[in-house]
Amino acid sequence: MRGWFSVRMRAARGCIHEEGGEHLSGCERMIAADAIRSIIDGMLQRIEKHPKGQADAINFRIDRIEEADIVRINALPIENRVAATVEEAEEVAIHCLKESCISPQAARIGVQLIRHLKSSMRGAMILDAESGVRLDETESRGVRLSHMDCEDEEKFLSFLRSHGLNGTKTREALILASKASAMDGYLGELCWSDDPGYVSGYVASTKSYCRITPLKNHANPIGGRILFVKKGLNIPKAIQFLEKKPTLVIA
Ligand code: AMP
Repeated sequence: MRGWFSVRMRAARGCIHEEGGEHLSGCERMIAADAIRSIIDGMLQRIEKHPKGQADAINFRIDRIEEADIVRINALPIENRVAATVEEAEEVAIHCLKESCISPQAARIGVQLIRHLKSSMRGAMILDAESGVRLDETESRGVRLSHMDCEDEEKFLSFLRSHGLNGTKTREALILASKASAMDGYLGELCWSDDPGYVSGYVASTKSYCRITPLKNHANPIGGRILFVKKGLNIPKAIQFLEKKPTLVIA
């Protein structure tokens, strides 16, 4: 086989997602054909080591991507901020969001929306950057960005290392944030992880990916993602781009 492929995996506890299984882990790659076997092997290892426990159902999906459909974009430049407390980190996040033309009201609503989630969503909420009103209608599922990867793994990882970063979390977050930032009408993003051991989060904009530590307390299993967009954005079109447009990020 030749060309690019989308490889997606999701694992659940109890039974498959469609039958009400509890989501455990998911990941996806967009890779050259000759890497498919090793990528699937890596995904299986990731499930085996998952901090939330064992999977009962694992679903793999592999789809060919047409080269002509792929967009290539540059990775966002990385910044790093460390705060003394979660409260201080929240203020840093709100400041960064305001610098990206997001209103103070919408920025605070965004923080509170993630802070008060009873359980983590699988995707992102889309908020009006002026009023803070939620615009997507995906309820507790959220909008899931998909079909994205870095174009050259080695270059991308060395770009992360040059900022003192390594690990899958930052790799995936920077790819996702870079893709989101290429969407028409996008202004910024706020995210922190649902991994109980990972307390960093970030604010992204069209200009940067600003990693902020700690945006939550250790052992907290709730995370979330919010995309802030301009008023009047065509939401179905935006979701189509986020979910479906094959995107490779170049470091
Ligand atoms: P994570 O950084 O993977 O721990 O994810 C943190 C939160 O971001 C999750 O709880 C979801 O709400 C959201 N999220 C994770 N993956 C995606 C994705 N592919 N697209 C949109 N939102 C996501």
